[in-house]
Amino acid sequence: MTIHGKIVAVTGASSGIGEATARHLAAHGATVVLGARRTDRLERVVDGITAAGGTATAVRVDVTDPADLTALVDTAVERYGRLDVLVGNAGIARLGPVGDLDVAGWSEMIEVNLRGVLHGIAAALPAFRRQGSGHLVTVVSTSGLKITPSQAVYAGTKNAVRTLLEALRQENTDGVLRTTSISPGYVRTELIDSAVDDPAARDQARQHMADLGIDPAAVARAIAFAIDQPDDVEIGDLTIRPTRQG
Ligand code: NDP
Repeated sequence: MTIHGKIVAVTGASSGIGEATARHLAAHGATVVLGARRTDRLERVVDGITAAGGTATAVRVDVTDPADLTALVDTAVERYGRLDVLVGNAGIARLGPVGDLDVAGWSEMIEVNLRGVLHGIAAALPAFRRQGSGHLVTVVSTSGLKITPSQAVYAGTKNAVRTLLEALRQENTDGVLRTTSISPGYVRTELIDSAVDDPAARDQARQHMADLGIDPAAVARAIAFAIDQPDDVEIGDLTIRPTRQG
């Protein structure tokens, strides 16, 4: 089975890459279960997918709460019979030099970007084992690949997830679990709006993103490519960035 007919849960589906991924997968015949905190935004995405003939449902999910990830997986299994893919996409960025000592921002990123993915794995793995198959896709970042000032903790959380997924892959070579880490470069989304505190620096970052960033639909297509493989093929790591990104 490729994308068509798959049941896919996407965290962080209320905007940006997650929203684009949900829309793209649904347009190609997947049933999508969308999780995020802003339920009004989720409902809008669900309505759009449904109006276009697709199948989607929304669940309020805060990825820092393990029970919410369990509810996301349970919704897929109870409503549609199984969960084929979990796209762990929800994430935040709080950027700045380590010396700024933004301890609260560090904790927030660790909670959402790292613990949030761990909670998703804990919720999905038992279902994948019961079914005899499952696919974990995580959205990490090129900022974990090219170390950049002001992104230390953000990149650290993304690299931790990358490491986690590779270990998980090596621990599960019995054919049940597939793992994929997608590393986007600059993508035009709302991520930057809450990433930088200083208004002037934020405006500059926004402008940079507007000039250079690619459309979230490009990342959605990369995620779809990983999902759209036969069961015996695993796309492990995939980098997708603007052609002009340094
Ligand atoms: P957006 O800000 O548009 O999307 C982030 C999503 O994460 C939103 O749907 C938001 O939903 C969700 N989210 C944030 N915190 C939580 C939480 N506690 N619980 C549940 N959902 C949460 O940005 P992007 O689309 O860019 O970000 C998606 C992923 O892509 C992130 O992991 C980001 O790190 C990664 N990425 C982005 C890049 C870029 O240039 N934009 C580059 C590389 C990676 P809500 O607020 O409704 O809960």
